Amino acid sequence: MNLSVDCECGKVIAVSSASAGDTVRCSCGRLVMVPPLSEMRRRAGLAPIPQNAVEKVKSLISSNELPDNNLCPFTGRLADTTIWLRVDCESKWIRGKEPLNDHLKLLFIFMFGWVGALIALMRNSKPIEEFGREVYVEIPLKVSSEALNLTKMLKSHSKLKTAIKCSSAYVQLLNEYPSAHISLARNS
Ligand SMILES: [Zn+2]
Repeated sequence: MNLSVDCECGKVIAVSSASAGDTVRCSCGRLVMVPPLSEMRRRAGLAPIPQNAVEKVKSLISSNELPDNNLCPFTGRLADTTIWLRVDCESKWIRGKEPLNDHLKLLFIFMFGWVGALIALMRNSKPIEEFGREVYVEIPLKVSSEALNLTKMLKSHSKLKTAIKCSSAYVQLLNEYPSAHISLARNS
């Protein structure tokens, strides 16, 4: 897959998929942001993401093959209930800054005089651009009913991340999206 990003100087920089979401330095010295993988694939005219772990998990859920754990990953006891977790795999990538609201603008000008006014102006001159797409999946996990009382644990991102590793489909999901964020789904 040939991926590239354009620098303001006009050069086209070849990048690898590993630098997706990161920055690369052009030979002119400028730092150029690299969009998320899905956006780069779209620009290259490729399908957003090939049959991936998200699609696989979704189809396993719809065919009732998930959840597939019998023991509660939190308590080690026999799981008797199911909770739903939201896994945010890839979020929208935003370039540019939110314009300052009027209060902040006045505060900037009050505190820093003309420098503040200039900062406020510059913040407004950069439009916000959105790239990429939001990729998330809601996954079921069997737990013991005692685990439902462990609210602190259920709010801990790292604990949830460890917990879902009890299922190989979820391990694959985490391998594909190592920086995925996991939280309790709103309806569970
Ligand atoms: Zn350049």
